[in-house]
Amino acid sequence: MQISPTIELTQQLISRESVTPEDAGCQQLMASRLEKLGFNIESMFYVDTLNMWARKGTEAPVFCFAGHTDVVPTGDVKNWSTPPFEPVIKDGHIFGRGAADMKGSLAAMVVATENFVKAHPDHKGSIAFLITSDEEGPFINGTMKVIETLEARNEKIDMCIVGEPSSTNYCGDIVKNGRRGSLTGDLTVKGVQGHVAYPHLAENPIHKVSQSIFQLTQTQWDLGNDFFPPTSFQISNINSGTGAGNVIPGDVEIMFNFRYSTEVTAEQLVHQVETLFNDNELNYELKWTYNGLPFLTDEGTLVDAVNIAVEEVTGKKPQLLTTGGTSDGRFIAPTGAQVVELGPCNATIHKVDESVAIADLDQLTEMYFKVLENALLP
Ligand SMILES: [Zn+2]
Repeated sequence: MQISPTIELTQQLISRESVTPEDAGCQQLMASRLEKLGFNIESMFYVDTLNMWARKGTEAPVFCFAGHTDVVPTGDVKNWSTPPFEPVIKDGHIFGRGAADMKGSLAAMVVATENFVKAHPDHKGSIAFLITSDEEGPFINGTMKVIETLEARNEKIDMCIVGEPSSTNYCGDIVKNGRRGSLTGDLTVKGVQGHVAYPHLAENPIHKVSQSIFQLTQTQWDLGNDFFPPTSFQISNINSGTGAGNVIPGDVEIMFNFRYSTEVTAEQLVHQVETLFNDNELNYELKWTYNGLPFLTDEGTLVDAVNIAVEEVTGKKPQLLTTGGTSDGRFIAPTGAQVVELGPCNATIHKVDESVAIADLDQLTEMYFKVLENALLP
């Protein structure tokens, strides 16, 4: 069977077993292709994470493809129809861990860049690749560190496409032009442990906290805006109790998360929650984790370039959304870069039998190519 260069490279990437934070030679493979085009390759290794910054050209604007070579674990391989690191083509799809998230996108980026440089050797500006092997893990030593390094030497990204699988029904139907902020709270409410038959000698922390939980779930934090849905509050874990049926527990641990819009700040949410706990006279400890600020890439060169490219390939303009989980775009956008996410359909990501349509990856290659033309031709 005849397969396209994008599919061939996708297969080569899938067969490298790069479970987070391993890279397993994926970046080396990409680098060898980019070097031939005149890219300057910089490997940046931080603690346990291999990253790559590759750049062709020294002028502005800097157009950057960003993505990750690591994949999530397979789970029990017995549940897979075919081995997860042996790519298989079946029914117009390519199967394997990372096919959709996001080795297919990486292959499309490399092949689109090869085609673009061949067609337009005298393009303006620079093309760059920011690739990490720690997006699926704790993300401490990945994109965040590379951005710190670039910022320290005043190297700026002007436009960035992140290859996360943004699409729902067909490739390019949805482009993410921002992300909500994410804020996590680890709460411990203290009571007094005792016998359930002698409640007057104890203080039940679960009872104490329940009113606050109810109030938090009923609060309207904001109404959202044109690009963001309203801020949402969710409890993800509650742990308490000794396991015995006759003991009032001494404390309860609750973990919760905000996905917030640009209508509030993390500081406002923290203040509002702590005020509520104080008003309800809880005895508590609360640790906050700031996972990422919200960002929005409104109108501009990049959004225009992507809109036109997607419409030329699919016949329809994409829908611009900010829903979904966080991505490494949250580390790139605060530098002032325009950032959007454009990638294949996400129906099977992180699942067994992860797959992506071959036609989607070939279309994605064309979209990336046209975005480069729209962004970097005079
Ligand atoms: Zn991903």
